[in-house]
Amino acid sequence: MRIYNFNAGPATLPEEVLDVIDAELHDWQGSGMSVLEMSHRSTEFTAIATQAEADVRALLAVPSDYHVLFLQGGATAQFAMVPLNLLRGKSRVSYLVTGEWSRKAVEEARLFCTVDIAASSEAERFTTVPPRETWQIHPDSAYFHYTSNETIHGVQLPAMPMIDSIPVVCDMSSDILSRPVAVGRYGLIYAGAQKNLGVAGVTVIIVRPDLVGAPQAGTPSLWQYHLQAKQHSMLNTPPTFSWYVLGLVCQWLRRQGGVAAIAERNQRKAERLYAAIDASTLYRNPVQPVYRSRMNVPFILARPELETEFLRDARAAGLVGLQGHRSVGGMRASIYNAMPEQGVDALITVMQDFEQRHG
Ligand SMILES: *Cc1c(COP(=O)(O)O)cnc(C)c1O
Repeated sequence: MRIYNFNAGPATLPEEVLDVIDAELHDWQGSGMSVLEMSHRSTEFTAIATQAEADVRALLAVPSDYHVLFLQGGATAQFAMVPLNLLRGKSRVSYLVTGEWSRKAVEEARLFCTVDIAASSEAERFTTVPPRETWQIHPDSAYFHYTSNETIHGVQLPAMPMIDSIPVVCDMSSDILSRPVAVGRYGLIYAGAQKNLGVAGVTVIIVRPDLVGAPQAGTPSLWQYHLQAKQHSMLNTPPTFSWYVLGLVCQWLRRQGGVAAIAERNQRKAERLYAAIDASTLYRNPVQPVYRSRMNVPFILARPELETEFLRDARAAGLVGLQGHRSVGGMRASIYNAMPEQGVDALITVMQDFEQRHG
């Protein structure tokens, strides 16, 4: 029996995608071999890779001159690759800090340059986003970096911040393809695949080409965006199977009606779950409502001693992965694109039933 998996990443996949992987595993479309066994230079894999890129471009309406790269190292490698490639002779950058992931991005960028904190909500324990008018963006910054959805704290910017003077870089690891974005207004977008795009091992980078021609001296070849772009992300062996699964997830998403359609479904799922939390006296979400994430919904129990029993009851009802991140505790339900509405409804039922018995 398949359970509902609320893990934050690696995370649940659409069941239809698993079915396709299953059907194609031993013999990909009459090739007589598995994608796992294919040369990355073969015509078969080239077709898979090209189609996946075309689907990412179509789903996000990526401007045709932008590069779309499929690299290894996770989003964490991008914390370093971004400054190494985008400094372009400058020595400082500006970062918005709204949670654990943007804080980690700052730490890594500090290995390479001066990082100015445009604003931080750390004093509010990452339950909000500092008002735009308080942000201080240094005019000499090579770029401005933010994290659109903080996966651990459940804080999401409702829209792209207005910044005209310098390129905007965004870590979209946990909300890419969950809602429409105007890619052409960004300098660079990156996202690890294991939240909303597929499985671990591949990271998508979408970048404006004029930003990447002059990496810092000493940057390894593999970490130079413009060299990777020239070689279609095949400077060395790419993570072929992860790239293939990413393509299947994109195909699935296109069948769902694309990003605008999934965004509506995501909004419905999140609204129902937050409404249930707000209507209860046992559960509470600490995030300021306008910044509540539609992807990761943390909640704490008014009586923390009940947590273990709550998780046990949820498990018995076929719901797993609800334990909050070790750094913040409590519960967290990750409800990415692949989480069906029935999964969210099942969670709400378990929560209400549990509260009735313990509230
Ligand atoms: C998961 C996550 C990361 C880290 O991803 P890795 O693939 O483990 O490097 C970075 N940023 C955000 C927003 C994330 O959700």
